[in-house]
Amino acid sequence: LSQHCIFCRIVRGEIPSRIVYENESVVAFRDTDPRAPTHVLVVPRVHVGSVGELEDPAVAGHLVLAARRVAEATGIAESGYRLVLNTGADAGQSVHHIHLHVLGGRPMTWPPG
Ligand code: 5GP
Ligand code: ZN
Repeated sequence: LSQHCIFCRIVRGEIPSRIVYENESVVAFRDTDPRAPTHVLVVPRVHVGSVGELEDPAVAGHLVLAARRVAEATGIAESGYRLVLNTGADAGQSVHHIHLHVLGGRPMTWPPG
């Protein structure tokens, strides 16, 4: 399963990515199809399919705290940013490895589309 998972392959370095932050629990890299001036994905090093399969609260905590580090490192912390966890079909989740979107660098609209 995780052998062919695209984000597991990015975590292992088998697929190149533009990493902006990493620690022992997570890797954060630029989205290849950015929807905002700053668009970074934070993923756990362990394979978790989605929020629907999340069991370890530490994984959720590491994702959110890493997102804060990403915001600080990319200069969007002051102006603000949005964190998104698309989960399942209606939300448009397209990669089945949990990933926290960090979006910023422009004003966001609400509600999301
Ligand atoms: P989702 O639609 O599942 O919430 O988000 C998946 C995101 O992964 C999309 O924004 C898409 O552009 C991004 N993505 C898909 N494949 C790759 C890849 O190989 N490298 C990177 N950096 N981003 C990817
Ligand atoms: Zn994976």
